[in-house]
Amino acid sequence: MKIFCIGHNYEAHAKELKNLLPAEPVIFMKPDTALLRNNAPFYIPNFSGEVHHEVELVFRINRLGKGINEKFAHRYYNEIGLGIDFTARDIQYQLMQKGLPWEKCKAFDGSAVISEFVDVNHYSNPNAISFRLEVNGDVRQHGNSGDMLFGVDRIISELSKYFTLKIGDLIYTGTPAGIGAVAIGDRLKGFIEDECFFDFVVK
Ligand code: ZN
Repeated sequence: MKIFCIGHNYEAHAKELKNLLPAEPVIFMKPDTALLRNNAPFYIPNFSGEVHHEVELVFRINRLGKGINEKFAHRYYNEIGLGIDFTARDIQYQLMQKGLPWEKCKAFDGSAVISEFVDVNHYSNPNAISFRLEVNGDVRQHGNSGDMLFGVDRIISELSKYFTLKIGDLIYTGTPAGIGAVAIGDRLKGFIEDECFFDFVVK
């Protein structure tokens, strides 16, 4: 299975990183070894002094597809979950300055927290799903799928131009504003609407 991630997909977050708004979805990938499931603790890797949380809605592909028209993209996913795209921001800035790829800062072990999934029909409107991240009980990030620059259907259409989508592939759809560093001892809880999807500690 493949893990796709979309960068700079919320205007306020793109601005907090001083990025220009993208004209098309910014795509990167993580390997399956990045997944962190079942509320397992996240261990801050020793190569970074600044790992940021990025809470994101995650959609799961349920059909094989390639060259998918945006109009039909809704047929290719049926489940939604919540995740964190952990990012070694200090490493990312070093890589970006040199124009190098992002894998070291984005795709390391444990960098893709993932919850259980629920049927996407659990929510009446996929374009109005609110979610948030609490760190030690304080809301640090909150977002709404309606604020994505590129919605999930457009993302699927774009991804499928380049990659054959397979059952079980995951799509992290980008983070809203409010990213910040995590510290040892932090407790991270993620919610879609008012339902807790993950709850784990940083070690
Ligand atoms: Zn992200």
